[in-house]
Amino acid sequence: MNNAVNRRRFLAAAGGGFLATTLLACGSRTADAAERFPVTRTDAQWRAQLGPAAYDVLRQEGTERPYSSPLNGEHRAGTFACKGCTQSLFSSKTKFESGTGWPSFTAPLPGAVGYHRDSTLGMARTEVHCSRCGGHLGHVFDDGPRPTGKRFCMNGVAMTFRPA
Ligand SMILES: [Zn+2]
Repeated sequence: MNNAVNRRRFLAAAGGGFLATTLLACGSRTADAAERFPVTRTDAQWRAQLGPAAYDVLRQEGTERPYSSPLNGEHRAGTFACKGCTQSLFSSKTKFESGTGWPSFTAPLPGAVGYHRDSTLGMARTEVHCSRCGGHLGHVFDDGPRPTGKRFCMNGVAMTFRPA
């Protein structure tokens, strides 16, 4: 083996090491900067508590298949709550039939949700999460009906329903 080959191998190894270190540093920086929530659990605890479908949405920002949630057809008076931490999120009074296949609301209960900009999938969207546990709930759009003109497009699997 000649020195040139050795040198290239060394550089390749060093480059890989540098990349891994950079990714780890970025990961920890993101975690440090992450919003803090009153309710926190480890990833393993969330997995155990929520089960695969709710974990995918609440903790991995997944999206349930449209028309898959029984809460689409929930029209009784009551409150929709976070499946992660039981915080009340939406009143049935604000639910409307959006035709999207996801439970939709014109407004959350006061202070129930937080927002951040989401530019995944090449779209600028506003992500909606529970203000108590940070669990991802869905997105909000500006094409909703009166009185707010907002459409909170929620994943039913991320919520439970409590009849009034
Ligand atoms: Zn929550």
